[in-house]
Amino acid sequence: MAEVTDAMRTVIMTVDDDPAVSRAVARDLRRRYGSDHRVVRAESGASALEALRELKLRGTPVAVILADYRMPQMNGIEFLEEALDLYPAARRVLLTAYADTNAAIDAINVVDLDHYLLKPWEPPEEKLYPVVDDLLESWRDTGGRAVDTTKVVGHRWSARSSQIREFLARNQVPYRWYSSEEPEGVRLLAAAGLDARRLPLVVPPDGTVLVEPEERDLAVHVGLSTTPAADFYDLVIVGGGPAGLGAAVYGASEGLRTVLVEREATGGQAGQSSRIENYLGFPDGVSGAQLTDRARRQAMKFGAELLTACKVTGLEVNGAARTLRFADGSSVSAQAVILATGVSYRQLDVPGVAEMTGRGVYYGSALTAAAACQGQEVFVVGGANSAGQAAMFLSRRAKKVTLLVRAPELAASMSFYLLQRVVDAPTISVRTDTVVEAAHGREHLEGLTLRNRVTGQSEDVDAQWMYVFIGAEPLTDWLDGTVLRDPRGFVLTGPDLTADARPPGGWPLDRPPYHLETSVPGVFAAGDVRAESAKRVASAVGEGAMAVMLAHRYLEQS
Ligand SMILES: Cc1cc2nc3c(=O)[nH]c(=O)nc-3n(C[C@H](O)[C@H](O)[C@H](O)COP(=O)(O)OP(=O)(O)OC[C@H]3O[C@@H](n4cnc5c(N)ncnc54)[C@H](O)[C@@H]3O)c2cc1C
Repeated sequence: MAEVTDAMRTVIMTVDDDPAVSRAVARDLRRRYGSDHRVVRAESGASALEALRELKLRGTPVAVILADYRMPQMNGIEFLEEALDLYPAARRVLLTAYADTNAAIDAINVVDLDHYLLKPWEPPEEKLYPVVDDLLESWRDTGGRAVDTTKVVGHRWSARSSQIREFLARNQVPYRWYSSEEPEGVRLLAAAGLDARRLPLVVPPDGTVLVEPEERDLAVHVGLSTTPAADFYDLVIVGGGPAGLGAAVYGASEGLRTVLVEREATGGQAGQSSRIENYLGFPDGVSGAQLTDRARRQAMKFGAELLTACKVTGLEVNGAARTLRFADGSSVSAQAVILATGVSYRQLDVPGVAEMTGRGVYYGSALTAAAACQGQEVFVVGGANSAGQAAMFLSRRAKKVTLLVRAPELAASMSFYLLQRVVDAPTISVRTDTVVEAAHGREHLEGLTLRNRVTGQSEDVDAQWMYVFIGAEPLTDWLDGTVLRDPRGFVLTGPDLTADARPPGGWPLDRPPYHLETSVPGVFAAGDVRAESAKRVASAVGEGAMAVMLAHRYLEQS
């Protein structure tokens, strides 16, 4: 087996079936190039190919391959031919005996050989190093680079591929995307021993091959925490949007043992916003991704634990402990809980949309897909701020953006400053009184049927891209039987629970619930999930902080 150790240094590979010769070549190469390069040695074509596949998946560059011509099973030319499929830019050298010179000359055509070296190559200073020096220089000129980020190979129009990219992007995990049809994508698939039938392929920097991975599995491999380090905390926060992150910063900074549990990616809705312009302290606006990154780092700096790809599915009250159950059956307990689960996009329930989701139809700004809209026409469905922001963002790349608004005008649903910008943008047009009746397409969205609500007339339009922002709802069914909610599922807190000046039924304490406290003592709600909340970033962050203060008060008294 070839020696494949250490990380991303550029590789010079040598393969020779004679162990003594193999060691001698490697020794001479290391002497001269060992400080800047990794010399990988193999004793057969098969093991060398295995090593090359592993290097390919890790993203390690291979600059030069020296192969002996006469090897059993697979000769040097056959090996170089296969190596070419993985590393087409690597420079290729055949090591030959004098008698095989003709074969080497033939190989110049077969595998586009860069050089052949006659054995023995003594002294290397004269016969080996000048050749390898030249080859390294020409390889560098063609821009060989290490790819030490996660690699994703997928089909351009696959919904799962787009979900994986979105997951990585929202969790701020750097990755490089390769279409399964581009040469480098094909090479990575070959290195993993796969064809394009099972995609996406994800290869984290450690070279592990993940095929169609679940988010949780993927999270572990790219270095995100998914399980709590302890069984019991002072405070568990459910949801990693602005309210949850705000609570994590304040909870941890004030000395509470704090864990935040997020089902997808920290940042929540705000994390998907291209530009938040009304958050205090950012006069030029801030992207949701930037705000999230700073908040994450701030929370972790104070010692909060952040879990990702970890969905909470139940809440139980066990005496003084509040226990949260996860989708995989495990659980974590705490003295106090903050529910900060926000709201989720409402789905557009018309024929064809579910099938085309991730294939031209997107919920939220799906910024990873936005790059593909360059120079094309885009439809944005919705009339509120989120739709307006997305239209502005997409108009920077798209040829034309059409905002489809159900209502007769935008003014009732969109902030004035944003409305002005949308109206002034030369590439955005607004169609009011318009609803989407159906989406059409085979592999990717191809068209929409639109209906005018006033005239009742339907019209088919060509469409490759549609972004949907038609409101959101709290997904709080998992609180059934424990926490009181309003008819739409928003969590009731404080004064909303004591409307008739009496605490809710079953409330066990002498005092009424605190302002952000739910119908279960010690369980608080903050941000968009709370009934009658402001649905703004600033208020969510503020409520997160305030919920921590109330949790302190609760803990002091219990
Ligand atoms: C595109 C867009 C642009 C916006 N722009 C602005 C703006 O410019 N200014 C402004 O003030 N507001 C803006 N908003 C609104 C603002 O983002 C929200 O008010 C804010 O994000 C609410 O924060 P939150 O923490 O309460 O909830 P959310 O941001 O919704 O976060 C909730 C989090 O909880 C997680 N979660 C849900 N259920 C579970 C569960 N069972 N287990 C674990 N985790 C769970 C979710 O995955 C999510 O990450 C925008 C919203 C959108 C969608």
